[in-house]
Amino acid sequence: MAESRGRQSGFDLFGVAQAGPLPDAPHLRDQIASGRHGRMQFLARTIDVRCDPRVGFPWAKSVICVARRVHSKEAASFNGIACYANAVDYHCTLGEMLSKYVGDMKKEFPRAGRARAFVDSGPVTEKAWARQAGLGFIGKNTLLIAPELGSRIHLGTILLEASIPPDAPGAGTCGDCRRCLDACPTGALTEAGRLDARLCIAYLTVERRGDIPEADRPKIGACVFGCDACQDACPHNRRGPVPADAEPETIDRLIDLSEADFDRLFGDTPVQRATWKGLRLNAITAAGNVGGNSCASSLQKCLDDPDPAIRERARWAIEGLTLRRHRGRLCDRLLILNSCTDK
Ligand code: SF4
Repeated sequence: MAESRGRQSGFDLFGVAQAGPLPDAPHLRDQIASGRHGRMQFLARTIDVRCDPRVGFPWAKSVICVARRVHSKEAASFNGIACYANAVDYHCTLGEMLSKYVGDMKKEFPRAGRARAFVDSGPVTEKAWARQAGLGFIGKNTLLIAPELGSRIHLGTILLEASIPPDAPGAGTCGDCRRCLDACPTGALTEAGRLDARLCIAYLTVERRGDIPEADRPKIGACVFGCDACQDACPHNRRGPVPADAEPETIDRLIDLSEADFDRLFGDTPVQRATWKGLRLNAITAAGNVGGNSCASSLQKCLDDPDPAIRERARWAIEGLTLRRHRGRLCDRLLILNSCTDK
């Protein structure tokens, strides 16, 4: 009953697991114990429920898992912004779909009992449950890979009081492939299936809201919000959209962004999580890393910004820009010198 309704409700994938302790619990606890969760204290606070949802929701007997493929380009598209974030916020769209699904299910099956839906919004380890419910397997990049859809999918979870026959856990492995580990620009995938969030560009540009330690700033390269490197490298995503790196004119535009434009362009997208100031700080950092001459005037303007953090980051970025210019000139001269010597 739940499955046919799930498919009718517009989800691309649907599965059910039995609520209980997750086999991934030791791995999840180790992540917290070793501090690889960085500043995401909510992960530490809720670790017991994440390992077994019945700790927080003793009535839960089933875990319904759904997935919906990423629909990029639903909103304004910017290079340097991760594919999933160039779209209307899936927390809202998928959240609405799940609420409707729960409402319809309760009408049709009043004995289904209590239900609670989550879209990246509560103490539920969605990827692990999606694997348990047969939606796919966890790749070496720590993401859920669905055989037909790859990893560019959004996940939703419903804890349900009724007991529904579960699906078999997802099978599949990455085999010998390790492209994501090789592609990660910061080495955040320290080994297969192990992510150090503190090194991950998504964490640095989203969760830290622009507050990136100086030593880590070069690591974000041209990324302004999130990173797609490990997903772009994955052969399972060959058919999916491949976003481009930030181009200098995009970075300019984001550096100069007014708060009103931020709300207009990103108000209904996941980018709002970075905050207006955080996004500008990220764009300034990217300009310091990869920006060309076209970024210079935007950075210069930032030196008069009322916010001291913006002024400090602009000074840092201008130094980077200047250094690259000098290096470029030096290389030009060495090339000329080389060609003269060759003659
Ligand atoms: Fe697995 Fe290769 Fe995809 Fe990484 S890139 S998740 S190793 S299949």
